[in-house]
Parts: sequence; structure tokens; C-alpha cells
Amino acid sequence: MIPQVYDSPIFRMACQQFDLVADFLDIPESARDRLKMPKRAVSVAMPVRRDDGSTTVFMGYRVQHHLTLGPTKGGVRFHPDVTLGEVGALAMWMSWKCALTGLPYGGAKGGVTCDPRALSIGELERVTRRYTQELIPFIGPQIDIPAPDMGTNEQTMAWMMDTYSLQTGHCVPAVVTGKPVGLGGSLGRKESTGRGVAYLISRAMDTLGINAQGATAVVQGYGNVGGVAAASLNRMGLKVIAVSDAFGGLYNPKGIDLAKLDEHVAKTKSIVGFDGAEAITNEQLLTTPCDILVPAAMERQITGDNAAKIQCRILAEGANGPTTPEADAIIAKRPEIFVIPDILCNAGGVIVSYFEWVQDLQSFFWDEGEVMSKLYRIMEQAFMQTLNFSRKRNVSMRFAALSLGIQRVHEAKQMRGLFP
Ligand code: GLU
Repeated sequence: MIPQVYDSPIFRMACQQFDLVADFLDIPESARDRLKMPKRAVSVAMPVRRDDGSTTVFMGYRVQHHLTLGPTKGGVRFHPDVTLGEVGALAMWMSWKCALTGLPYGGAKGGVTCDPRALSIGELERVTRRYTQELIPFIGPQIDIPAPDMGTNEQTMAWMMDTYSLQTGHCVPAVVTGKPVGLGGSLGRKESTGRGVAYLISRAMDTLGINAQGATAVVQGYGNVGGVAAASLNRMGLKVIAVSDAFGGLYNPKGIDLAKLDEHVAKTKSIVGFDGAEAITNEQLLTTPCDILVPAAMERQITGDNAAKIQCRILAEGANGPTTPEADAIIAKRPEIFVIPDILCNAGGVIVSYFEWVQDLQSFFWDEGEVMSKLYRIMEQAFMQTLNFSRKRNVSMRFAALSLGIQRVHEAKQMRGLFP
């Protein structure tokens, strides 16, 4: 039974995935709800003064999925579609992601229902600080550590860290990750998700025997994940033939000049109107023939309606939850497609967040080479464990990754026992 407060298509999707894996792993009924249902959820109504003198009440949420292995960890999303159900599903996925990669955290996620593009910088700061203030009793370096997600960035984290530190009376950099490097952020954190995606794509290409030189990539979402992944793939010798953002898509079969595109984005804040490619729709983008398809935007993009039409050899999920269970069932019957599932593919972000937290707690900072080599070591291990599980047990890569994550949390809960 899904509690009504979480009920939404995305929370149901996360539960559906969990139930399938729990059946496969033979997790007893009595342990299932304990593993699945988020431990804590906070919902706050936040009155914020607007630039014109009026007041708007924004809704903010934070969900902490489980507290079994350490503090909780996960991003904060500013987006008009944010609901408690979405945040709950994303928190659950963070739990499986952290367990799959061996990080000592439970999953969390936060969000504010707002359109950050429609807010001035001053309004964004007031929303962020008010949200942090409301969360003071629920966050902290040993409690719950927020980070950036869609619609938030280093500046958001700097405001959060400042608001929390002012309340505490001393500087607490370890309360959030994804901060500017000058405030205790980690070198490589900003690029870590996109670079991790590109690293696993190169490992999948090795596995399938695809040569990077001249291979083609299509990237949905040209933000911090998709943009960095596209640039890394380009450096590896791939041609990025299509990209999109929230406003439209671009296609150039000869390969898009990403340096020029970045200049255009810096000026106009969108990829739309770039003259080095032709305009395409999001639906056309997803079904463009390519070697590598990287959904790096919203969840639920590859669905029962379009999964039969995607034409790639590797589906590398930079986004969280981009593929629905209906689409998974269709892709399972297309063995020519190799899936790098979200909780593995985009784990680079939270892995380097973990490094940032460790560095902050020790007040001892690493150089970028050290960060990157430790990142790739963890990603390599998680990739090989997932691939081996998938081959040995004859299940999809998603099923393998979820199984490893869920099994580890299940075992930890069994070891701790039930109190009282
Ligand atoms: N928001 C990112 C994710 O979905 C990063 C979370 C973090 O660094 O804590 O994995």
C-alpha cells in the first residue's frame, strides 16, 4: 500500500521496481515495507518576499529514506513539477545508489516547487535561505547532507552552508556538498557526474567492442550532467550528433561543435537558435539512430510509447529514473541495447560528494588527480559487480544494480535488528 502523501506515477514506479527485485531476492514480506517506505519526510510552506513587495508561499520538501548505514545524502531540486511523491522516489533511488557504490549513507532528496528561471537572483537566495532555515533541525553533517540537483548549483549550496553556519555560530562546510571550491568544495565535484557517465560509457564500449573514434552520441539535457558528459565523449573521439534542453533540440549528423554551442548557451541561456545544427523535437532526438543515447534530463522520458523506437547500442542513464518499467520490459526484448542504469551511471556525483564530505570533516583537501582516480576506482568496481551479477543471474543491468543496492540495505537492517 502506497501512503497517499507519496502517491504519484514516479513513486509508484520506484515501488514497482523495488517489488520486482524483492520478489527476485526472496526478501520476506515482513521486511519489505521497512525497506521501501521513506523513514522521514518534512514538508514546509515557505513565505518568501518577492522583488515587487508581494509574498509568495513556496512548498519545500525533504525526504530521508533510511538511516541504517549513516547520515542521509542527496540533492535538492528546484523545479515547477516537484512534489512529495517525486522527492520520495528520488530519495529511494539515492539509497540504492549509495549502497551499490558502497557509500556510508542512506538516500535523501529535497525539493522546492518553483521555476528557478522565473525568479530573480535575490528571490532565489531568499527561497534557498528560507528552505535551509526550515530544515535546520533535520540536516547536519551527521544527519542529512544536501547537494545540488536539477535547478540548483554551487551558489545554492553556498547560501545553504552560510545559512546553516550562521545558525550554528561557526563554519560548517560539511553540511552540504557541491559547494564552490573556495568554500570547502571538492575539486572535480562539478564535473563528476558527467565524467562518471562518460567513464562508464567507455567501459560499456570496451565490453561491446565499439570503437570510440567516430561513434555517435545523442544527449538529452544539456545541463551540468549532459553538458559535461557530451564534452567528455567528444574528447574520447565520439561525435555528438544531437542534444536538447528544456526548450528544444539540435541535430547535426557531422557532429555538433560543442565549444561554439557553449558560447551560444553562455549568451542566450539555451541551445535553441544555435546556427551550427538543425532544430529537432525532443521525440525526434530520442529516436535518432546513434551508438550512445544519454538521457540526462527529467525522469520518465523513455516510456512504453517510444521504447521500441529508440535506436542506440548503449543507453546511458545520466538522469534519475528516465526509463519507465513499461519501457524496461520492451528494452529487455531488445538484447542489442546495453543499458547502464541510472543508479550506476550517474553515481559519480554522489561519490565525489562523499569525498567532499570526508575532506570537509578532516579539513584536509585532495588534488584533482586523487579525486578522479578514487572516483574511477569506485565506478569501475560498481560496474564490474553489476555486470557480473547481470551475467551470472541472467538479469538486466538495471535489475542487477538494484538487486545489489537493495540487498545491501536489507542485510544491514537485518544485522542491526528491530528495536524495541
Ligand atoms: N543530485 C545528485 C544525484 O542525484 C547528487 C547527490 C549528492 O551529491 O548528494 O545523485
